[in-house]
Amino acid sequence: MIDRRHGYFQREKETISKENREAYLKEKLSEILYHGYRQSKAIHSMFEKAGFMPDAVKELKDLEKLPITKKADLVNAQKENPPFGGFEIVSEAGVRRVYISPGPVFEPGEWDYEDIRWAQALFACGIRKGDVVLNTFNYHLTPLAIMLDESLRMLEATVIPVGPGNISMQIHLMRQLQVTGYLGTPSFLMSIVDAAEGMRLDPKRDLHLKAAFVGAEMFPESLRQKLEGKLEVLIRQAYGTVDVGCLGYECPEKNGMHLSEDVIVEIVDTETGKQLEIGATGEIVATTFSKVFPMIRFATGDLSYLIEDPCRCGRTAMRLGKILGRTDQVTKVWGIFIHPWQVDEVMARFPGVANYQIVVTRKDYRDQMTMYIELKETIPDQAGLKRRVEREMEEALKVKSQVEFVQKGGIPDRARKIDDRRIWE
Ligand SMILES: [Zn+2]
Repeated sequence: MIDRRHGYFQREKETISKENREAYLKEKLSEILYHGYRQSKAIHSMFEKAGFMPDAVKELKDLEKLPITKKADLVNAQKENPPFGGFEIVSEAGVRRVYISPGPVFEPGEWDYEDIRWAQALFACGIRKGDVVLNTFNYHLTPLAIMLDESLRMLEATVIPVGPGNISMQIHLMRQLQVTGYLGTPSFLMSIVDAAEGMRLDPKRDLHLKAAFVGAEMFPESLRQKLEGKLEVLIRQAYGTVDVGCLGYECPEKNGMHLSEDVIVEIVDTETGKQLEIGATGEIVATTFSKVFPMIRFATGDLSYLIEDPCRCGRTAMRLGKILGRTDQVTKVWGIFIHPWQVDEVMARFPGVANYQIVVTRKDYRDQMTMYIELKETIPDQAGLKRRVEREMEEALKVKSQVEFVQKGGIPDRARKIDDRRIWE
């Protein structure tokens, strides 16, 4: 048995071989499927419907035989079978906490928090034993702040359970208690830096931060550079959801997010639920080993891809690439799925373009896709640019589009990247 509180974070399992990692995950998977089959109504009925027993799922690939569970399925199951929808495995000890996430989704919290995934993420970001850490995530209702709080205990770091809000108090605490670590959203960290500067403090000199761990929001590279410059610290992010916990985290190399150890992450075709090859973009689906609320093939709704090349940090876990968007932003044109990230990829090749939007309409029962483009400045050969964009869009998306140029400011700031204006009647 591994003692999870001490010594675990010294890279014991993060550097194991691919074969051993797979063997470990297979063992954990069959454990949770048997356990779930016996003790969770929802998992039991999933196998009943599928018409086979947990022993039919031997390899990670066999997960494809099981259905995907979406957030809406969880919400509906909880309405029919309150409060936890039958997904729970509740022991005689009962439940320590009930968390409530948007949906609403109710989630039982265990008596002893043993999930090491957030602790791994915090370690990779540089938080160590003895650090004094400001936890500005919200402690109410949702589990994230408490999970991180418990994870800091595993790392033997001190936590200040402050939650968000009251920025000047946060700054005073950071100075008085010599805070070395920050946990919270990147935008809240930016607010702290702005407020500190407004108080004529130098965030580098007057705050003592060594590490900042951010999450729960998109984290643009420009914001990271700004914050890292102003604070002179490494800022690393992790990816996860309230339903399935931490799925991946950045290491100091900052080249994607290493998959967490105690979870199975699949990238699947949103239509078929089949696993995609490494590098292909699909939906992130997770199977967790929680002893109280395991999720089998839970669909996050987020799109990404896997990276297998070795990482200089020494960890051998594959990495998740960028989060490219949500599955619900997809639009079907001429029967072909079009994702905003595909359009972004094409348009990144045209540096003269300031802004763009695709509008889908329907005329005479035929789909029409128009790409509106704002240029940074007028160029002599607009017709040539139009032809190049149309050609590259068609190559990438397999659907024809018509490019039209609009004046600067012609596309509203918060417009949807793909605006579907078709009326079905
Ligand atoms: Zn790494």
